[in-house]
Order: sequence, then structure tokens, then C-alpha cells
Amino acid sequence: RAKGAGRGKTRFFEIEMDNRLRERRAISNELSSAIARNELCLHYQPLAKIDGEVIGFEALLRWQHPQRGMVSPATFIPVAEESGLIMQIGEWALREACREAASWSQPLQIAVNLSPIQFRHGDLAGLVHSLLLETGLAPTRLELEITEGVLVEDFDRGLSILRRLKALGVRIAMDDFGTGYSSLSYMQSFPFDKIKIDKSFISNVKSNPQSAAIVRAVIGLAHGLNLPVLAEGVETRPQLDFLAGEACDEVQGYLMGRPQPIAQYADLIGQDGATRAKLLSA
Ligand code: C2E
Ligand code: MG
Ligand code: MG
Ligand code: MG
Repeated sequence: RAKGAGRGKTRFFEIEMDNRLRERRAISNELSSAIARNELCLHYQPLAKIDGEVIGFEALLRWQHPQRGMVSPATFIPVAEESGLIMQIGEWALREACREAASWSQPLQIAVNLSPIQFRHGDLAGLVHSLLLETGLAPTRLELEITEGVLVEDFDRGLSILRRLKALGVRIAMDDFGTGYSSLSYMQSFPFDKIKIDKSFISNVKSNPQSAAIVRAVIGLAHGLNLPVLAEGVETRPQLDFLAGEACDEVQGYLMGRPQPIAQYADLIGQDGATRAKLLSA
């Protein structure tokens, strides 16, 4: 009987695996035509100084699927990375974000996420260079967000591309800091322009002394390296107050603003849109 139950479980597991694989394959197929069908778009989430002053936006991919509805990038980016489609999708996101930001009246920062796969193939620095020329965006306004995956896979290649990107005048931020393997050793190899503390630490900062200690240490590390540090995923006022007390420089999260179509933030990017607009009331 125990044997039978075990076999049943295995069978169930196999069916699950099969469904997962089929699901991934379906997503992969549909994703390959998503750009042409205009199903991809970018949402924009404000980046702010600790006092709420808006300094820019992070562009975040969204896939509006005709049947599935809004598909999360957490679902489709891994599929796109596996199939190689991330090359096309990443280029689309970069061009779209640069084009959008170049149209703003306010010279705010625009942050775009890059996949490690985009460093592995093709000529990323050449692409960024030509997109800056094509869209007319000032290089200093573009911030590229990377994870240590870029340096884990092929350190020399990753480093050389990062140096070429920096030479263009764009900024490089280390995203999701604290979640990877050996982020610390990479901090001494390359002059990053910003550290973004992963939101998993911020969400626990008021409930877990360990998280608070880690956030404090990362802020200390960043400042020791003369780098500004941004806290991701700030949802509550107590979290913000903690970060202010620890001299965190910048914040991003639902408390300041959710990722939304740029039209929702027209007042911040527009002509008389206050650059000094505050997203937080005192
Ligand atoms: P990320 O780069 O770390 O982006 C921040 C994520 O945190 C976003 O998730 C954002 O919606 C979410 N977030 C922001 N504030 C809060 C908050 O207060 N609370 C909570 N719970 N979440 C918050 P999203 O938009 O689902 O994107 C997930 C990930 O997908 C991104 O993480 C990024 O790694 C990847 N991604 C998104 N767009 C692109 C892209 O154009 N290219 C690449 N390669 N990856 C992308
Ligand atoms: Mg990011
Ligand atoms: Mg990211
Ligand atoms: Mg992150």
C-alpha cells in the first residue's frame, strides 16, 4: 500500500512537471510574437530621495496577454532568458525606455534592468551607444541595473562590457543586493554608481532584527565605498522612518508609488511638473 501511495505521488509529480513544461513552452511560443503584436509595455515606478523628492523612474516590463491577462516579468523573463528571446525583448525595453525618457520635460533618471544573457551575446555596449544616439537621451540620465550574474558567468567579459558602458557615461546600479552569492567581492572589482538593497530585507526590517542589521550594514558598506544606496520595496511609513534613521539615500516602493503607465505620472515628468515634487507628505 505504501508503495502504491508512493507511486501515486511520483505519478502526480510527473504530471505536474509535464504541465509546467507544457506551460513554459506555451509561454515561450506566445512570447516570441508578443513584441510584434504590441503586447509588451513598460510601467514606470518612481525613484525618490529619502525625503520623497522624485529623481527618476525604473522601467518595468509588462506583458498584456490576450487570454492570460497581465503576465508578471517574474514568470516570463526566466522563460525569455532560457529561449534567448531576452535579447530581443531586452533591446525593445531599452529602446522604449530611452525614447520615453527623452520625451520628458524634466531631465529625470531612467533605470532599466539588464539580464546577464544580454552580456553573454551580441554587443551590448554598442547597442546602448546606438540607442542613446537614436533617442537623443543624455547618457548620464540612463542607469542600467544589473545583478552579480553578469560577473558570475564570465567575469572578464562582464567587466569589460561594464567598463565600456561606463565610458559611454551611463550609470550602473547593482540590483537586488544581498540575495546573490558573492556580491561583496564584485564591489571591489567595478565602480558601481549605486547599490539597491533587495526588497526582501526591507519588508522584514521592522519585524526581524537580523534584517535590520543587514540593512544597516549594507548602508554602511555603500557609504564606505562612497556610493548612494537605495532601498527597494518600501511599503510603510515605519520602514521609511527606519531607513531615514540609518541615512539611506534613496527609496522605491508602493509607499512612494506603484509601477504604472507613465501617463499616471504625467505631473512629475511634464513641463510645469515640479522636479522637486514630493511623493511623501511630512
Ligand atoms: P527588480 O528589478 O528588482 O524590480 C523591482 C520589483 O519590485 C518590481 O517587480 C516592482 O514592481 C517590485 N516592487 C516595487 N516596489 C514594491 C513594494 O513596495 N512592494 C513589493 N512587494 N514589490 C515592489 P516586477 O515589476 O514584478 O519585476 C520583477 C523583476 O522582473 C524585476 O525585479 C526585474 O528583475 C525583472 N524585470 C522587469 N523588467 C525587466 C526588463 O525590462 N528586463 C529585465 N531583464 N528584467 C526585468
Ligand atoms: Mg531593478
Ligand atoms: Mg532587476
Ligand atoms: Mg530588485
